[in-house]
Amino acid sequence: MELKCSVVIKLLVLQCFLVSCLSAKDFDFFYYVQQWPASYCDTRRSCCYPKTGKPDDDFSIHGLWPNNNDGTWPSNCDRKNTFDESEIDDLVSRMEKDWPSFSCPSSDGIKFWTHEWEKHGTCAESILDMRSYFETALDLKKKANLLQALKNAGIHPKNGEFHSLESIKEAIKEGVGHTPYIECNTDSSRNQQLYQVYLCVDTSASKFIDCPVFPHGKCGSKIQFPSLSGDQQEEEYNHNEL
Ligand code: 5GP
Ligand code: 5GP
Repeated sequence: MELKCSVVIKLLVLQCFLVSCLSAKDFDFFYYVQQWPASYCDTRRSCCYPKTGKPDDDFSIHGLWPNNNDGTWPSNCDRKNTFDESEIDDLVSRMEKDWPSFSCPSSDGIKFWTHEWEKHGTCAESILDMRSYFETALDLKKKANLLQALKNAGIHPKNGEFHSLESIKEAIKEGVGHTPYIECNTDSSRNQQLYQVYLCVDTSASKFIDCPVFPHGKCGSKIQFPSLSGDQQEEEYNHNEL
């Protein structure tokens, strides 16, 4: 009887170990976040074009962020796994185009990429090594071509025109297959503008999924896309170092 008991206990311990090791999921899904650069500039009150120059008005990547279904998220999970540019040498030209940094002083992106890898990427290192983390994020941008999805729905993000929040969500849902979360901010004239689009990605980082949970916060019903070249933005770009 004693022997049986100890065998059962050992099996239970083994089972617990296997369950916690094999299904070791540090998070439940990713947020894939793209920003509308001109709105980032309004958020910051100033911004600098990347060293590569003023880009076209288009979405750019902010990050790929591990998240939990209860809305919490891990961060800075492995301080030893620091950003190493040599691992992404051949991705840099794609990164400069699709993942530029608009902070000041004018940047080549390295500081932003380092921040995103160390804060968010290291929390998914069991799934994506550093190179795959960046490559995956770049590939997701091709899969979720937000600008094209909006254009297909007759929404041309320019000229400060207002669009309904619902029409923007619908257009992205049509293009990507899943409803996005839209984050807004306000410009100096108190207009609501689209700042970021969140899509959700499964833990293998291979496909978009319906978001298990959306971040908090709401946009107004009518929102604008500011333009990087718009006259109304001049003030905000006074730190532009071009
Ligand atoms: P903010 O306070 O501007 O919304 O977010 C600041 C930073 O916190 C973001 O850039 C991101 O690094 C992190 N963050 C904010 N909200 C979320 C979230 O819902 N999930 C994850 N994973 N990170 C978030
Ligand atoms: P988060 O913690 O919000 O993921 O990361 C944002 C950090 O990256 C902030 O410290 C911000 O100053 C910096 N950063 C540099 N360039 C950019 C950019 O183009 N967009 C955003 N959202 N943050 C940037």
